[in-house]
Amino acid sequence: MQVPDFILRQPATLQEAITAAQEASRPPDGSHAPSAPEQGYDWLGGGTDLLCNYKWRINQRPVVIALRGVAELQSDVAGSLAAGRTLWQLENDAEIQRRYPALASTAALVASPLIRRSATLGGNLHLDTRCWHFNQTAEWRAAHRSCLKAEADQCRVLPDPGDVCVAAYCGDLAPVLIAYGAVARLHGPDGERRVPLAEYFAGDGIRRFAERRRAELMVAVEMPADAEDWRVNYRKLRLRQTFDFPEGGVAVGLQWESGNPGVIAAARIATTAYASVPLLHPEVVELLQGQLLDQDLADRAGALLESLVQPMKNTSMSPSYRRKMARVLCRRALLDCSPHSSS
Ligand SMILES: Cc1cc2nc3c(=O)[nH]c(=O)nc-3n(C[C@H](O)[C@H](O)[C@H](O)COP(=O)(O)OP(=O)(O)OC[C@H]3O[C@@H](n4cnc5c(N)ncnc54)[C@H](O)[C@@H]3O)c2cc1C
Repeated sequence: MQVPDFILRQPATLQEAITAAQEASRPPDGSHAPSAPEQGYDWLGGGTDLLCNYKWRINQRPVVIALRGVAELQSDVAGSLAAGRTLWQLENDAEIQRRYPALASTAALVASPLIRRSATLGGNLHLDTRCWHFNQTAEWRAAHRSCLKAEADQCRVLPDPGDVCVAAYCGDLAPVLIAYGAVARLHGPDGERRVPLAEYFAGDGIRRFAERRRAELMVAVEMPADAEDWRVNYRKLRLRQTFDFPEGGVAVGLQWESGNPGVIAAARIATTAYASVPLLHPEVVELLQGQLLDQDLADRAGALLESLVQPMKNTSMSPSYRRKMARVLCRRALLDCSPHSSS
């Protein structure tokens, strides 16, 4: 299947990239009328998600702006990971393995080794949401009345009226970075702004971000100064262990009481693939805080998480199985954080 025609822009600097996006989102009459943030163009990281969607004629845009040549996105600055870093680099970088081991091990769980050589951190975090009715060829969609996120005006998953998109966010890195307390560094025509990743994602399967500004892109992910003090763990449910997207994913971040390892001083619990955005679960955090981490606490936390997640019938595995597995993933991720665990 061929990629459709588009105009490829290859900026060398951040400013050139932003200018290219501004030009691409300007209406054809040349006016400066406001437009949707992504109107007319897409950013391109490694293309392992975007170009697959284009091949299936999903939401393609006339201009694609490649970020590989943008110098500012290729190298880390102090405390930040550049958005253009490949997942293969994250997985194999000795410094990342030492400082943020769960990030390195989770990068290794994404897709296949070949894909990870091209796939970028920025692309992974902006991965489009997925749904059984959406990730299909144009012919399949036409035969099945398509879906709200593509050509139709109604969701095929929700019962009437079905005017909300419930496609699932299935990125692996977002929950782990949220568990580390990471912050997105964004750059656009108005300069730079920083948004905690936990607040960056919001809305439904179409909107996906709390606030998306025109011609803005992610430059880097900032790791907080105390990130190395957090014990983070991620567990993933997938069909085939070799390269599949998560059907459910649970990231756990814990900090111990000082002088009292095993007693939880602070916690972060984030899930992926259970909703249209990665979700935080403050109810589970409340249960954990101040408690000694043992089998019983891990069981209760898993049971609570199972009661909170609400997967839809829009991926390969059944919602009831995915919900049950949230309990298992949470329990295992927690116990792996234990001071007595070797992982
Ligand atoms: C067979 C297969 C299996 C996969 N399995 C997994 C999996 O298990 N887990 C998983 O998480 N993913 C999986 N993926 C999806 C994908 O490969 C990865 O998420 C990858 O990290 C995407 O990165 P990319 O650079 O290729 O993104 P691209 O395809 O280039 O872009 C993806 C989106 O991000 C936007 N974008 C890219 N960079 C930026 C930026 N700097 N700022 C703002 N927006 C940006 C693009 O405009 C686009 O909307 C799989 C893909 C395939 C084909």
